[in-house]
Amino acid sequence: MKGTVLYGPRDIRFENQPDPQIVQPTDAIIRMSATCVCGSDLWPYRGLNTINAPTPMGHEYCGIVEEVGRDVRSIRSGQFVIGSFATSDNTCPNCRYGYPSSCMHREFMTRAQAPLLRVSLADGTLVPTPGLPSSDLLPSLLTTSDVLGTGWFAADAANVKPGSTAVVVGDGAVGLLAVLSAKQMGAERIVAMSRHDKRQHLAREFGATDIVTERGADGVARIMDLTKGVGADSVLECVGTQESMMQAIHAARAGGYVSYVGVPHGVQLDGQQLFFEHVHLHGGPAPVRRYLPELIDLVLNGKINPGKVFDLTLPLEEVAEGYRAMDERRAIKTLLRP
Ligand SMILES: [Zn+2]
Ligand SMILES: [Zn+2]
Repeated sequence: MKGTVLYGPRDIRFENQPDPQIVQPTDAIIRMSATCVCGSDLWPYRGLNTINAPTPMGHEYCGIVEEVGRDVRSIRSGQFVIGSFATSDNTCPNCRYGYPSSCMHREFMTRAQAPLLRVSLADGTLVPTPGLPSSDLLPSLLTTSDVLGTGWFAADAANVKPGSTAVVVGDGAVGLLAVLSAKQMGAERIVAMSRHDKRQHLAREFGATDIVTERGADGVARIMDLTKGVGADSVLECVGTQESMMQAIHAARAGGYVSYVGVPHGVQLDGQQLFFEHVHLHGGPAPVRRYLPELIDLVLNGKINPGKVFDLTLPLEEVAEGYRAMDERRAIKTLLRP
């Protein structure tokens, strides 16, 4: 088969790779129905994470099971399945506490921008749908694998409750789906911080009631205006920079909640400043597997349409253009069809 490999900054190649094989008896091989490029793929693509060797790419996936190892019990060939970017056994203490993305046997997926994928711990990691979904549902189902699950965690970890005020920092696909998630969890007021017309529009479609275009201290001042000087109940940080993190912490009210789901790059927090902020902080790699059954149901029942974040669809072999379009912010998120 051919798969996606990053060789260095802005050097994505679609090239020959060995077909994946069952390695452990708990593995499954799936044939990809759809995969995509993640905002987090852009960090190494831009050279902001150093890579030392050609690196296979991709961690968001859904598809049909081709083959399972001899110890796989609940997953069968022919099922349509979705899994998280992190594998999990669903039985260890961390999984039972609700943090499968910290599973004691976790592996991070890294080869999903390819037509075939090996998934370890198949029984714990993969969630089958009741039947084969129609192709128009594929984009929305694919988002549950990471971006929607991560946006959902952002809202959950920031304690979004019916009637609360939520602020979302970041207008990438995760931020936009954090808006959708906050709406589903009943937030009454949802402020999207975005300065891009197209993204503001989608944020409103997903449930944003207010748009703030300012950033940094000016952005915080606008949130304070909107909340009568108190700050927001919940702030969902979906970027991972020093500026976005401080903006999130300063925008929360005393006793408020800040979640952070953007992988931090160079973020440093001052202990004493944090002490006087009086906020709850909760973040990390989203425990997507915990949310998958509920999110898949919401999609299959037509309650949500998160697949709208894909504004570019390309054949898998044109993956390099998919990265370029996102890097240049011509596309919010690229869906790739094998
Ligand atoms: Zn991702
Ligand atoms: Zn586990």
